[in-house]
Amino acid sequence: MQSDACSSPPPCEGLLRRPRFPILTLDEAKLTPALGYVFDKKWIDPRESLVSILWKLKVANALSGVAVMRLMRLDIDPYESLPPKRGFIDVVRLNEALGLPTKSLHMALIEETNRRRYSEVFRYCHFCMVRGYHSLLHQLETASRCPAHRCPVESACRQCGHEAPYCLNVQLLEAPHRCAHCHAFYGNRAWRPDRPRPMRPDQRIAFARSYFEQGLGCRSHG
Ligand SMILES: [Zn+2]
Ligand SMILES: [Zn+2]
Repeated sequence: MQSDACSSPPPCEGLLRRPRFPILTLDEAKLTPALGYVFDKKWIDPRESLVSILWKLKVANALSGVAVMRLMRLDIDPYESLPPKRGFIDVVRLNEALGLPTKSLHMALIEETNRRRYSEVFRYCHFCMVRGYHSLLHQLETASRCPAHRCPVESACRQCGHEAPYCLNVQLLEAPHRCAHCHAFYGNRAWRPDRPRPMRPDQRIAFARSYFEQGLGCRSHG
């Protein structure tokens, strides 16, 4: 018998079908901090995934998952799922809110036309998660180990075994660096904006090398 923990996640098809419900008309002004968002570019490491970036934004600003979804796109029902792919996310809007270069935001997203196989479930390195870091390189099915730590990439929560779909949705965003099912930390600790831990230079090099070895650095993105 299959348990919830190991059942296949639903496909990430938020925008692939028409919303079943009317799009909510939320007052954006109430969701946006009066003085803008607190976000320090130094919190972000090279080749960090958008999920990881948004988790840090959420923690630093105590935002709701709905508010983060609205930040990615205004023309959707925030309770739908968005694929973490280029073309589905309003990177200009994110750029204006966070001050991160659009190039970095593009690199944080899966290229829609890319034939490489990315896992449909969230995959992580336990040791990278201790620092609150997740990369698209962890999602590549051809990469079974973390480029920096050389340990196997995991997908199941160590506490409850849940595998989260790799989609941008309220459930995932509401549980920064944690299992969306039982809320256990993937890296056994919370990421804190006042205690950033810089990535070690050798790990930075390992991610950069892996990025190019996987052929992800061959194209430019405006
Ligand atoms: Zn790692
Ligand atoms: Zn869990």
